[in-house]
Amino acid sequence: MTGRIDRLRALIAGKADCALVTDDINRRYLTGMKSSAGYVLVFPEAAYLVIDFRYIEKAREVVTSCTVIEQEQGMLKQLGGLMAKHGAKTCALESMSLTLQKAEMFRKIKDVEFLTDDTLSQALYDLRTVKEPEEIVKIKAAQALAEEALEKLLQKLHAGMTERDVALELDFNMRRLGAEDLSFETIALTGAHTSMPHGVPDNRIIEPDSFVLMDFGAVVDGYHSDMTRTVCVGTPTEEMREIYHIVRTAQNAGLAAARPGITGKELDVAARDIIRDAGYGDAFGHSLGHGVGMEIHEFPVASPVREQQLAPGNVVTIEPGIYLPGKFGIRIEDFVHITENGCENLTNIPNTLICV
Ligand code: ZN
Ligand code: ZN
Repeated sequence: MTGRIDRLRALIAGKADCALVTDDINRRYLTGMKSSAGYVLVFPEAAYLVIDFRYIEKAREVVTSCTVIEQEQGMLKQLGGLMAKHGAKTCALESMSLTLQKAEMFRKIKDVEFLTDDTLSQALYDLRTVKEPEEIVKIKAAQALAEEALEKLLQKLHAGMTERDVALELDFNMRRLGAEDLSFETIALTGAHTSMPHGVPDNRIIEPDSFVLMDFGAVVDGYHSDMTRTVCVGTPTEEMREIYHIVRTAQNAGLAAARPGITGKELDVAARDIIRDAGYGDAFGHSLGHGVGMEIHEFPVASPVREQQLAPGNVVTIEPGIYLPGKFGIRIEDFVHITENGCENLTNIPNTLICV
């Protein structure tokens, strides 16, 4: 974590005298400690975690990257005092997560100019976009847990279950296996409902010989996983097999293309071309992928408009789909870790059509 604070210093050097980090996830990234409150204050020569009584015991136990200080009643005065002590005249705030109300509150601190441009938020996102090996280990643990939850579900998945039943089973399995949280609200859809990429599970019943689309993930040690499988309960029709094959071929093309230096756009196009050439271009209306880490949607983004290049340490999903309203939809989602030479697929369950 000390390395992260050093890298943050380098990114804001010359732009602000100090940085005040209040976002829960960014604070956890810099300190290793989960909490719903607290302030990380980074100066060139020192870093502090100011945190209240509820968390102070734990913070003193686990936080080594910052000097831990208990928050006082006059929090603004306390933060202002630290800024004065270190001679800070400018302080960067997080434009992408801080509320206007909080920014106004900090501005009550005298003799310090608070900067609300993107400098600090962007610096933190840039750091978080390049994962360290220990972060990849945690993401792998989250994915392994989610896959075990899916395998348990597949043993009992059958016609007659509702979408809600399926979502609940997955959620229960993930929690039971030790997930700290769910990556997002589990999507479990069946029949014609699968043509809505982010449909909400309801009491729809799985009919024999129909698709069930499941998009879900677990959080382990603060890190998310993300996967989608579209499985068939019973026997698929020829058309279902054919469309599945196209989506899978597109995903394989994306997986083969993922490497350092490729832009988000080029990666998207690698998969999208397969779907377009098969005549279903209009049925794939979302981006190919997104970054995953301490949040479910991070950078980099693989979409038709992203020029940013991928770099070693990035984690990105490859999730093409074909959605046919009134019929069915298919999405297959894996996620990969960009390495020096290519990528490592973090998803272990194959992308072949599973029938139960
Ligand atoms: Zn997903
Ligand atoms: Zn995703």
